[in-house]
Amino acid sequence: MRLKDKVVIVTGGSRGIGLALVRRLLAEGAKVAFTGTRQESLDKAIAALGDSAANAKGYILDVAQSAACEAMVKQVITDLGAVHVLVNNAGITKDTLMMRMKEEDWDSVIDTNLKGAFNCLKAVTRPMMGQRWGRIINISSVVGLMGNAGQVNYAASKAGMLGMTKAAAKELASRNITVNAIAPGFIASDMTEVIAEEAKKAYLSAIPLNRFGTGDEIASAVVFLASDDSAYITGQTLNVDGGMVMQ
Ligand code: NAP
Repeated sequence: MRLKDKVVIVTGGSRGIGLALVRRLLAEGAKVAFTGTRQESLDKAIAALGDSAANAKGYILDVAQSAACEAMVKQVITDLGAVHVLVNNAGITKDTLMMRMKEEDWDSVIDTNLKGAFNCLKAVTRPMMGQRWGRIINISSVVGLMGNAGQVNYAASKAGMLGMTKAAAKELASRNITVNAIAPGFIASDMTEVIAEEAKKAYLSAIPLNRFGTGDEIASAVVFLASDDSAYITGQTLNVDGGMVMQ
């Protein structure tokens, strides 16, 4: 167990990749606080976790609300005793070509994906600085590295997370807090379920390993970056994408 008694916050942990992360972090011995936007999605996740849910607790949160993020982190510390690891995983898409993109499509994606990650990052900084140990992991996307037609809002939010990762890594390194990003490729989840079959075929042809990834494969990278095995790694982006983007 590589994360025994570590307290981990996973935003957007109620389903998809986030739920796979929660499951693996629990298996590694962590106590996990996870968030969703509705009580119903938290309840579903707790039911899906079965017995392992004993060490998990769900919190309703809209990451775009700064005060709510502060309050959530305070509540997690009250409930679970500390916060050692933050995984900024909550994210949405509002895809359409730029010419048709409405102001609210831009704002909601930037507010959730980028500002939301900043809100949570800021909220954990003080307690992590105090304990002189912390791990922050930002779930970005290959789309933030290579762009994608129909996703200018999403690509900007995910590229922004990479710049934020580097700047925060420089600010926090002296307090033994590392900040890294993961750039998943196409991962089977509700988010990719909506992609049309033809488009899925086209995406597959661009993936050297010729398949979509799984949430559990993202979890392997998260466990590594959350553990002492990655103590000398900060400000980096780890691509978990079947070879889709090679830097
Ligand atoms: P998903 O299945 O759509 O799940 C999204 C999660 O985020 C849910 O738990 C949802 O909560 C939560 N969420 C949505 N809006 C939120 C808000 N305003 N505040 C707090 N939580 C919110 O997505 P996914 O595919 O697992 O993706 C997870 C992360 O990986 C995202 O950041 C995504 O951009 C990134 N990613 C995904 C892929 C992929 O292929 N799937 C590829 C690259 C990167 P509710 O259940 O309450 O709605």
